[in-house]
Amino acid sequence: MSKSKLIVANWKANPLTSTEAKTIAKGIIKSAKKYSSVDVVMCPSALHMETVSKLQKTPAVALGAQNTYPGTVGSHTGEATIDMLKQVGVTHVIVGHSERRLMGETEQDVAVRLHTVLKNKMTPIMCIGELERDKEARYLSFIHDQLIHSLGHIEKKDLAKVVIAYEPVWAIGASDSDAMKGSDMYEMVIFIQRIINDAYGADVVKKVKILYGGSVSPINAGDIMENGHVDGLLIGRQSLHSENFGKIIEIASKVQ
Ligand code: PEP
Repeated sequence: MSKSKLIVANWKANPLTSTEAKTIAKGIIKSAKKYSSVDVVMCPSALHMETVSKLQKTPAVALGAQNTYPGTVGSHTGEATIDMLKQVGVTHVIVGHSERRLMGETEQDVAVRLHTVLKNKMTPIMCIGELERDKEARYLSFIHDQLIHSLGHIEKKDLAKVVIAYEPVWAIGASDSDAMKGSDMYEMVIFIQRIINDAYGADVVKKVKILYGGSVSPINAGDIMENGHVDGLLIGRQSLHSENFGKIIEIASKVQ
């Protein structure tokens, strides 16, 4: 597996128009071409997916979805199935984003989606993260259980295909000064690796990519990647500003 940094843009339910989507996507594609050592994934809303996918003949930026319905096409009002996503060129799928979990997706729902993505030979980007931190550090056992249960009964051979995005919910949608510091993130990387080590064995630990997400900007991206020893970043709001997102890609290209 390549150890290039992976930078993921999660547009959520933005932007409003397909004209804006095109403009943002073009900016991101331009930066990705300039810093080709960095792996970039762009996750538009399902509505903008096709518009964005048509902008690239040979993809410099991989196309990602923000969720998937785990079944086949049919009577599933409001859903986009994995086959629909695949046929527009989606290769990565975010599963278990905290905003989906807060809407009621359970760890079991996340595990089913994760396995659907893997079965379809796509890359799942699985989000985990505690709602808040407590002095007794109970959030650590929360993360342990959330990670293990959301992975479901994954086979060890599939684990290396999963990207884990650690996104503490308290750091999402905040200011960059509220984001985690690189040194604190490093502790979480070690903690997550220890969980993987204990559950699946030492040989797979370094093969699983770990990303950080939560109020990343060009100001803190370098610290988080360098001192946090993460394999990349999952970015919300700043991914809608292609200039800032381009700066983050540039920073990532220098922290190889
Ligand atoms: C997110 O919701 O995944 C996220 C990281 O958002 P933001 O970068 O806006 O905090």
